[in-house]
Amino acid sequence: MPEVMLGGRPVPYQLVRNPRSRHVRMTLTPDGLRVSAPSRLPEREVHRAVASKERWLLRHADKLAPAPPIPLVDGMALPFLDGEVELGVREGARATGALTPLEGRLRVRTPDPLRVRELVERAYRDAAREWFRLQCEDHAQAIGAGPASIGIRDPRTRWGSCSSSGAVSFSWRLLMAPARVAEYVVVHELAHLVHLDHSPAFWDLVASVRPGHREESAWLAEHGAWLWRSPGTGPRPPCP
Ligand SMILES: [Zn+2]
Repeated sequence: MPEVMLGGRPVPYQLVRNPRSRHVRMTLTPDGLRVSAPSRLPEREVHRAVASKERWLLRHADKLAPAPPIPLVDGMALPFLDGEVELGVREGARATGALTPLEGRLRVRTPDPLRVRELVERAYRDAAREWFRLQCEDHAQAIGAGPASIGIRDPRTRWGSCSSSGAVSFSWRLLMAPARVAEYVVVHELAHLVHLDHSPAFWDLVASVRPGHREESAWLAEHGAWLWRSPGTGPRPPCP
C-alpha cells in the first residue's frame, strides 16, 4: 500500500486507477483512505495531490488508518448507548453471548477464545432486536405509522433502511452510538413509512419529532468509522 506523510506520521492509502477519471479523488471509507487517480498519472503526482490535502485529511485523522481491533477480553468496558457494559468472558462447553443492560453486563461463554468477538456481536444483535422493537413502539404514534417488521442487520453502507412494504431494518452497531443518535435513526426510518423519499415533507416530519436531528446525523457522518470498528477501539466519541 502506498503511504503519505501526514502530520509527521505515515498514512497508508488504497490507490485505485481509473481510466475515466481526470482528477485525483480522495474518499474516506470504513477501511481508511481511498485514492482514485487517472491511469497515466505518475504515482509521484498522485502523492503530491494527496499531500496537498493534508489539512483536510488531518481533520479526519481518526478515519485514516484503521487500527486493528483490540482483542475483547474479560473485564473490558464496552459501549452501550449512553453508558457501558462490562464484558465477562468464561470458558464453557457451549458458545453463548448475552447482553443484559440492566445488570450492565455482556456475558460470553465459549470453548474457543477466538470466538469472543463473534459472540459479543451476537449479544449486541439480540439486544438490538429488543431495543429497536421498543423504540419503534415508542415513536410510532408521533410519526403516525408503525413498521410491518423490524430487521437487525450489519450493512456496510447505511445505518437503517425502510422498504415500500413497510419493513424497517437497523444496524446493531447503533447500540454503541449515543442513545439520541440511535433514536434519530429510528425516527428517520419510521418517517419513511409516511414519505418514502427525502422530500421537504419528510424532513419536516423528522424535525417535528427530533428537533436536533442535524446534530444527530452529523455524529454518524463524523464517527461512523469508529462505529464500524467497535467495540474494542476505545471510548465513544462525545455526544452532539
Ligand atoms: Zn432516508
